[in-house]
Amino acid sequence: MNLTVVGSGPGGIYAALAASQKGAKVTLVEKQERLGGTCVLYGCIPSKAMIAPLATSYLAGKFGKDISFSYEELQTIAENVVRRASKGVEYMLENGGVNVIHGQAELRSGKINVGAQSLDSDSIVIASGTEKPQVKGTIASDDLHFIKKKFSKVLLIGGGVGGVEYGWLLAMTGKKVTIVERDELLLPKHDIDLRRSVTSHFKRLGIDVRTNSLAEIGDQIKINGEEEDFDLVVLTFGRKPALKGFEELSDGNWIEVDSFMRTKLNNVYAAGDVTGSFTAHEAIHKGIVAGLNAVGEKVSYDKMVIPKVLYTHPEIAYVGKTEGTCVKVSMAEVIRAVAEQSTDGFIKVCAKGENITGGVAFSERAEDIISSLALLMQLNVNVDIASKLIMPHPSYLEGLWEALRRLKS
Ligand SMILES: Cc1cc2nc3c(=O)[nH]c(=O)nc-3n(C[C@H](O)[C@H](O)[C@H](O)COP(=O)(O)OP(=O)(O)OC[C@H]3O[C@@H](n4cnc5c(N)ncnc54)[C@H](O)[C@@H]3O)c2cc1C
Repeated sequence: MNLTVVGSGPGGIYAALAASQKGAKVTLVEKQERLGGTCVLYGCIPSKAMIAPLATSYLAGKFGKDISFSYEELQTIAENVVRRASKGVEYMLENGGVNVIHGQAELRSGKINVGAQSLDSDSIVIASGTEKPQVKGTIASDDLHFIKKKFSKVLLIGGGVGGVEYGWLLAMTGKKVTIVERDELLLPKHDIDLRRSVTSHFKRLGIDVRTNSLAEIGDQIKINGEEEDFDLVVLTFGRKPALKGFEELSDGNWIEVDSFMRTKLNNVYAAGDVTGSFTAHEAIHKGIVAGLNAVGEKVSYDKMVIPKVLYTHPEIAYVGKTEGTCVKVSMAEVIRAVAEQSTDGFIKVCAKGENITGGVAFSERAEDIISSLALLMQLNVNVDIASKLIMPHPSYLEGLWEALRRLKS
């Protein structure tokens, strides 16, 4: 069985590996010189490489010590990490028996063409990801890691997840950051307690947060009709599906797929951001489902419990919906957080009757707290059983346990 996969991001990598493991002969086509897609080359990985040293600065600052990193130092760290991670993807695919071709793929009459070459395949997985917004006078979040221009005064348009994570990163490098958000608080559509806390925290960090505000991009930037000067303007939203060459799969929007990741064309599957999700972990799991089904298995992708994290400090993480009865535990009540002087923030967990519906954490270790909650939800553990789980002492996870215990009573 021959499978062709388009894209070497998380979706494409895992589609290719899953199919290859089942004995298929897999070819992966990637138009860029380096492998890894948006996540490895421009997104998740360079941003975390830059954030790790800044987390040290943030924590040291709480103990009255000053550790600082210049933007250029962080960029060098990110470049090295990205090089290594991209090589890692190369080895992973090679070890997994996947044949990689570089070139721009197109889907024509049910076949993948790369230049003059037409690839013979029984089935196809499209994991072409997204394109960044290209608006004159602005850059996208992807460009921030490797920008060579010197800047100190930066405007982030959009106070959603991108604006918040990069707002924190830039503020921590000493840049003068302004975030413009149309809504009344940062993180529109998220839990209201989270939005209030994050907005106040950002203001306390000295970030100029302009909510209920509108930025206009033209020859001159205007905020609420007034001209303002910035060295750099970052558009933090507006990514579009990468559909060039795959137009017949979509009506201009995301590629529609069913729960088996099948598109409307026979034997053509799609996975990852191009299908309208926005995290690497969703892309990975959709990729596995698409890859397996493409080689004759029958597996479905059920939009299950997906934890999401913003790697600020304190971290921001959430899962499910904060619906039903909710309890909030302040980090000042978590003894480990007290010991480490990390009492900013809270954990909130909600349930309808015995069923946990979701939660948010704005705290140190929020990633671990919310991933643990997600695990409970995924396994359908009810509030009663969850409240009896024993967490180590003194741990941040005790905050989660406390919330579950209060929900129970
Ligand atoms: C700045 C930023 C930070 C992010 N941070 C995080 C994070 O911390 N955590 C997280 O979970 N997610 C994060 N994301 C999102 C994450 O990067 C994506 O969800 C993930 O990369 C999607 O994987 P994918 O395989 O669907 O697509 P992509 O990673 O976009 O890969 C698609 C690949 O397909 C190739 N391609 C496209 N068209 C063709 C063609 N015609 N022929 C050949 N090749 C083609 C592209 O070159 C690319 O390599 C971030 C995104 C950005 C922009």
